[in-house]
Amino acid sequence: MTNEPPCLNHRGFLQPEDTTGWQFLPATLAARALRQDRCAREIFLACAHSALTAGTCVGDDRQRVADGVVMAGVVCRGDAFTEKAIRKVIRQYTSSSTRRAAHCLDCHKPMTTRHRKLPGHVIHDGGGMCARCRRARQRSA
Ligand SMILES: [Zn+2]
Repeated sequence: MTNEPPCLNHRGFLQPEDTTGWQFLPATLAARALRQDRCAREIFLACAHSALTAGTCVGDDRQRVADGVVMAGVVCRGDAFTEKAIRKVIRQYTSSSTRRAAHCLDCHKPMTTRHRKLPGHVIHDGGGMCARCRRARQRSA
């Protein structure tokens, strides 16, 4: 797949300086809509994953979500809402065709979803890992 992601060379994906309410600007909305039919699935997913940490600054002791940019069709504003929206996008894209691993890659316990809790199972988070192992890995990264 050599398709360029639609965000390249397209205004609307970056927050203009000193603009409040940029998430409602026509260019921003157009940027959001564009990715849905123009962005290849794997590029889109990679974008969503990098958006989760794109707001991290040098010297930050924890990872921060992207701010002031449209990534993965989400108007990122560096807040908890942004992170939630991105995680939802990742979930939607990963659960629709690729199967979730049955066991956590790290602790090897059987995994279930957040919405279907089962005794003896850990909650799947992403990357083939349960929520606990994934958090632990993110902390140590
Ligand atoms: Zn685990």
